[in-house]
Amino acid sequence: MTMETILYLAHTEDDGSLSRVALETLTGAMGLHAQLPGARFVAGFVGGDVSAAVAAASGCGAASFYAVSGPDFAMSRYASDAAALEAICRASGATIVVAPATSRFNRAIPGVAQRLGGRIDTHVGGCSVEGGALRIQRGYYRQRMIATLTRAARPWFLTFDSGVYPQWDGAPVAVQAESLTVTLGDELKKTKVVGYKAPFASAQTIRPDATLLFVAGVGWTKKQADGQVHLEEAAQIILNVLDKSNASLGSSKSLVDQSSEGHNVFSFMSHLNQVGQTGSTPRHPKGLAACCHGEEPHVVGWRFIGERRAINLDPNCGWAQGKADVVYVADAFALIAKVSELL
Ligand SMILES: Cc1cc2nc3c(=O)[nH]c(=O)nc-3n(C[C@H](O)[C@H](O)[C@H](O)COP(=O)(O)OP(=O)(O)OC[C@H]3O[C@@H](n4cnc5c(N)ncnc54)[C@H](O)[C@@H]3O)c2cc1C
Repeated sequence: MTMETILYLAHTEDDGSLSRVALETLTGAMGLHAQLPGARFVAGFVGGDVSAAVAAASGCGAASFYAVSGPDFAMSRYASDAAALEAICRASGATIVVAPATSRFNRAIPGVAQRLGGRIDTHVGGCSVEGGALRIQRGYYRQRMIATLTRAARPWFLTFDSGVYPQWDGAPVAVQAESLTVTLGDELKKTKVVGYKAPFASAQTIRPDATLLFVAGVGWTKKQADGQVHLEEAAQIILNVLDKSNASLGSSKSLVDQSSEGHNVFSFMSHLNQVGQTGSTPRHPKGLAACCHGEEPHVVGWRFIGERRAINLDPNCGWAQGKADVVYVADAFALIAKVSELL
């Protein structure tokens, strides 16, 4: 059996810190180190100034810390990131490289795997060791099938999705990072990051870090007991509860499909909010569906939602067929308005 060298890789955020997914992946890398007999564990960092990041990870038990830093490495840029990561991989002699699936690394790491003649698996959702061999888990077909796989080829690069492990927050210890010199020619510095374009926080209804996923269904746009539709009121109630609870907003397919048919629907949601078989599979500790039927193609998107609750007028809705932990048979307009008031 070959002795593995596990390399944990991270890049800094603009403020020099490590992102949530980077700290989660560190927990994963440490767990892997604990399980793989005789493995060496090292860590590598890239960024403008990596000292805070190295300090944050210093208690992880890595035998060596490598750093490529300086103004040239502050920004997310394929050419400089790939050169930096390649240098760290070569210096460490890594056979297994564990990295967070950030947009920055998602761009650079596949290229590094190619330069080193390695193999890569992205969107890793878990790993285990059996008979001294590493096995990883990965979802296929919108997470409806989970495959367990292993590889003989080395180096083996793994990028971990967020939500798989808790964030590492162990106490720092004194460590000395080994600084690697990577010289970039002008041809590797052609790309410049000039700024960010992102929607205003208040317009951002998709919040991956939220404790609660609030899912709206088509019932919000249906005729209610008085025979009328109440779109304005529905929009107010939904926005209000999002605001009060800081929840992330999900939707059924039917609700976001309405906009493409020229109906009046909610301006604050789009297909990006759609949860389900042909939508997203978000991860949140809790979920609350309102005015959504709970049909299977929708509910498969709730795979990673911890505690599930639903509000529906129909006691025989899909949620009541074993898909939710709690179903409130009630008018969501009245109930959610009351919840917001209490919040
Ligand atoms: C191949 C395929 C892929 C699909 N992929 C997806 C997907 O990714 N995501 C997805 O969501 N769907 C998907 N669907 C569609 C899915 O099967 C359902 O059609 C859809 O989820 C239904 O949306 P809904 O629950 O919002 O609407 P409806 O089924 O119309 O349900 C509305 C609900 O609102 C309730 N209601 C109305 N008024 C109130 C009130 N005042 N208070 C409380 N409850 C009220 C009603 O009782 C009803 O249960 C897919 C379908 C197929 C065939």
